[in-house]
Order: sequence, then C-alpha cells, then structure tokens
Amino acid sequence: MEIRNFCIIAHIDHGKSTLADRMLQHTGAISEREMRDQVLDEMDLERERGITIKSSAVSVDYAHSATGGRYELNFIDTPGHVDFHYEVSRALTACEGAILVVDATQGVEAQTVANAYLAVEAGLEIIPVVNKIDLPSARPEDVAMEIESVLGLGADDCIFCSAKTGQGIVELLDAICDRLPGPAGDAAKPTQALVFDSEYDDYRGVITYLRLFNGRLKVGDRIRMMRAGRTYNITELGKFTPRMTPFKEPIEAGEVGYMVAAIKSLEDVNIGDTVTLDARPAPEPLPGYREPQQMVFCDFYPAGETQFEALRDAVERLHLNDASFTFQPQHSDALGFGFRCGFLGMLHMEIIQERLERESGVSLVQTAPTVTFQVLLNTGEVVEITNPADLPDMSRVREIREPIVDVEIITPNDGIGEIMRLCESRRGVYKRQQYLSETRQILDYELPLSEIIYDFYDKLKSITRGYGTMDYTLKGFRADNLARMDILINGQPVDALSTIVHRDKAEQRGRALLGRLKKEIDRHMFEIPLQAAIGGRIIARESIRAMRKNVTAKCYGGDVTRKRKLLEKQKEGKRRMKRIGTVDIPQEAFMAVLDPGE
Ligand code: GDP
Ligand code: MG
Repeated sequence: MEIRNFCIIAHIDHGKSTLADRMLQHTGAISEREMRDQVLDEMDLERERGITIKSSAVSVDYAHSATGGRYELNFIDTPGHVDFHYEVSRALTACEGAILVVDATQGVEAQTVANAYLAVEAGLEIIPVVNKIDLPSARPEDVAMEIESVLGLGADDCIFCSAKTGQGIVELLDAICDRLPGPAGDAAKPTQALVFDSEYDDYRGVITYLRLFNGRLKVGDRIRMMRAGRTYNITELGKFTPRMTPFKEPIEAGEVGYMVAAIKSLEDVNIGDTVTLDARPAPEPLPGYREPQQMVFCDFYPAGETQFEALRDAVERLHLNDASFTFQPQHSDALGFGFRCGFLGMLHMEIIQERLERESGVSLVQTAPTVTFQVLLNTGEVVEITNPADLPDMSRVREIREPIVDVEIITPNDGIGEIMRLCESRRGVYKRQQYLSETRQILDYELPLSEIIYDFYDKLKSITRGYGTMDYTLKGFRADNLARMDILINGQPVDALSTIVHRDKAEQRGRALLGRLKKEIDRHMFEIPLQAAIGGRIIARESIRAMRKNVTAKCYGGDVTRKRKLLEKQKEGKRRMKRIGTVDIPQEAFMAVLDPGE
C-alpha cells in the first residue's frame, strides 16, 4: 500500500476542518452515526469558537477512484491563526505535501500567504484547493487566478470543491494520490522518528506523535530520545483512525502514528526530538525544530475564592497539555502570589486564560499583556525583561529595545488610506504595496509588536468592514524612546499597573488608563488622587472625589439605607478588593489596563 502524508493549511474559516470531515467520511473512517461537524476539533473551546487550536493527525485508507490502487493517507488538520504558525510548521515537517484551502468567496488572505510560504520553505508539494464553490457568491475562477498571481501556484492545478456538499472531494483525494510524492525513507535503515507533537493523558502519561522517516518501531522496543538522551520501553503503538487505535504490527518508514512509553511529563519530550532504537541507534538525529517563541506575557493571580495553590495546580496541569506557554512564580505587592506567563500571541493568551478557568474552575486576575523588552545596560550587558516592574533603574539603562514585526495586510482598495494612517499612528514604517487583484491590495509595514497586540486587528476589521486580514512575523529588536509608566493610587505606586510605553504616547496612554481606573474604583470617605508618572515625573492625573456623608440617609430614610448598605456589603463580599494603603481597589481595575481603549 502506498502512503501519502499531507497537511491541510489555510486562512482561518476557509474550511480546513470541514474538508477533513468530508475526507474522513468519504474514506469510511468515520460512520454516519459518529459524524458531527468538525470531528477533529475535540476541545469544547474549539467547538464553541469554531476554531482549531491544536493540530490533529489522522490515518485513513483510500482506494483511487480510477485505478483502484490502495493508499494510506495520513493527514494533519492545522490551526490557521497567526499565533499557531509554530504548530503549522511542525506539522509541515512531518509531511511531503500540503493541501492549501482557499475560500471561493474570500480569496487569498493573509494567513493563506503565510501558510503557503511555510509549506514552500518546508519543501512540500502543494495542491491548491478552491473551497465553498456551493455558495452563490463564490468566484472560483477569480480566486484561482489570485492563487496563481500571488502564490505562483498554477490556476489550472486548482481543485474546485465544496467541503459542505462533498462536490470535488473524490477528485481531490485522487489528486493527493497522483500528485503528492510518497515518503522517501527506508524501513531497513536504523530507526529515525520525528516527534512532531505530544499530548498528556491522565492514565497513559505522555502520548508522543511520531512520523517515521527511516526504520521501524514496534511494541516492546526499547527506544532512545536522541536529544534528551533518555530511554523508554514502548508499551503501546498505534495510528489515528481517527481515534487512537493500538496496532500490533510495527509502524514503518513513511508512516505516522503515536507511541506510549511510560513517559511521565511533557517536559521529558522535546517536540522535534528524534526517536531511535536503543540497540541500533541512528547515526544522527533529524533536523528538528526551533523552539516556540512566546510573544506576549501577562500575570495571572488568584481571584475571588481561588487560592494560590489551586491556581498553581491549574497552571501546572494545563502546561502538561500545552507546553507552548511558559510560567514562573511571580509576586506583586498589589496582587500577592501568582504566575508570570508567556504566550505565542493574544489569542493563545485568551485561550489559556479561558481553559484555566473552565478546566480547573479557578478565577483569575490578569494583568496587562506586554511584550519582551531587551534592556542594554551601561555596563554593555543586555537583559531581557517580560515584566515592566523588572525594568532596572533608568540611571543604569543605556537603551530599551522592543520587538519589531513584519506585518502583511490584505485589504480591499477602499480601506487603504485609513489603514496607512492607522499604521503610521502606531509608529509603523511603510515597506511596500502591491495589487493582489483589481479590488484588493497587499500592504507591508514594519510595526512595533506592542502597537499591534491590543486592538490593531479590531481596528483593521472595522476599517475594512471585516474584509481586511493580517499576519506578522518577528523581525528583531529595535531601540526606541521607551520608558516605564507607573500608576500611583493615593500617592502609592501599584506595581501590577506599570507598563512600558513610548514617551511620545505616554501622556495619552496615561490619561486613558486613569480614566478607566476612575470608573472602576469606588468613592471613599476621602479624595483619591490617581497619577501616571515616568521616573517620578507626573504626566497625567485624575481624582476620585470623596463620598458625601449621609446622602442616602437623607434621601431615603433610615430603614432603606440599612437595607441598601447590607446589600452593598454582600456585593462587596463577592467582589474581591485589594487594599493598597487605605484604598480598596476591585480586582476588575487591574483588567482596566488590558484595553488601551483609544
Ligand atoms: P477552518 O477554520 O479552516 O478549519 O474552517 P472550518 O472548517 O471550521 O469552516 C469554517 C466555516 O465555513 C464553517 O461554518 C463551515 O461550515 C463553513 N464551510 C466550510 N466549507 C464549506 C463549503 O464548502 N461550503 C459552505 N457553504 N460552507 C463551508
Ligand atoms: Mg479548523
């Protein structure tokens, strides 16, 4: 039986998961009874939001419709969002081919381009697919032309299909057999299996996803992780059909499967490592991957009834399932003990926060997300900081460097002027502009990451009425006129509210932030000054006026007042306050920094 290994890549919502459904259904891997939409999106969060967060691998058998030849198709559905490019590039390394899905009503979008480049870089054969041809607004021919002009893939090579109705699926499956190369590898050579993913199971421990490049593996083999240098015995070996199914026969060069080997912690498995046989090791490991890069950081502190220990358990537990976020203990004067966490991007951050709350039932206070900064000290030493509170005293600092990203925006022509103004207002550097079709353009800018993580994408969407898309890649670090802005409440600095800002924007940001804080903090018996300061110099101020005594008593009479006070007390019992000096600050106030709301 011949083998084809491929992954499905696309811009978000162009139909990858639905196409995977149709292929599973058509090859009989899943019965009509088991069929539900987006079968491979198993996580509740994935199903609710309709997005794929984690790649899934599947093996199916297919008989070519013309030749009757039998094929084992191994494919990986991937997430489309920019935060998960790392996940996609891992999946690509395990394959010889890629199905690039493009929505026939939307055309080529930012993540179409980004993912196609990743596939080309990985040296894969690409089959372009124009999907959703069942929709009345579909423009399959135009979209095929876009694919040709923007990505250099032949319009004639496009397969037109509908993942919804199943039209074109057989043609696609045949094309996969005919056009994608089979795996090279040699089953007789010493074993080399690439670890391309892993997951944690409460009962079996770590389940390692493998792509065999050479040799074979079977249950009972003693294997060695080449980079980590550890050895294990394989207790279970299998394939995804699409559920994990144990196999007695060996898994051989070219195939994809999973392995259970009494590995306790995800930390013990390096994604990108090579599995070989301990008795007959391969001369060298496969190339592997670079480490995932955390782009945004924030703190999580326990909130409401949640205790620190419960938060710690929740974070450690989730980390077993997703090793691409980082965490380390953190202490804040204002918020107590918590964790500083690093994420691949804002969506990833949101997902982790939501999974922590829903899978472990903890409640959290989250601080403002920030990027990593490189600080060049007068001594010549460079330190990386992910927390504004850690910024050394400015008298020791020569420069502060921030991450810069290359941003590619795809937009309809009529939004272009406004988008350029948006980029410029975010300290963007114009790179280039090019036509994608008569009605759409590709716009390239260099922008500080910190300027796009909050609300840039929402702004882009609203300018383009939902049609604009963007993608970005980290370019490097660049020094700019940056400083830490501290927030003082009643004269006292609150560490969890500090941010690093560009000096030109500090005043504006400071005022906006104080305005939001003012709304969150209740009146006290005394006036509370709110200040934003850079290095001791106050750049913005606000104040919360003192409560006037007995207002309620005068208006409503004693009885009502007592009842109201009781109610308010109860409410406050639920609303957790942090006392800083003599001021009670509700934990929601710490979230106020999250949204720059300009
Ligand atoms: P993914 O983000 O690329 O995995 O996209 P999904 O498979 O989740 O699909 C996004 C949306 O498009 C879902 O609402 C699907 O039902 C819908 N969809 C996918 N393929 C088709 C198609 O061929 N025709 C139509 N009409 N809708 C489709
Ligand atoms: Mg999907």
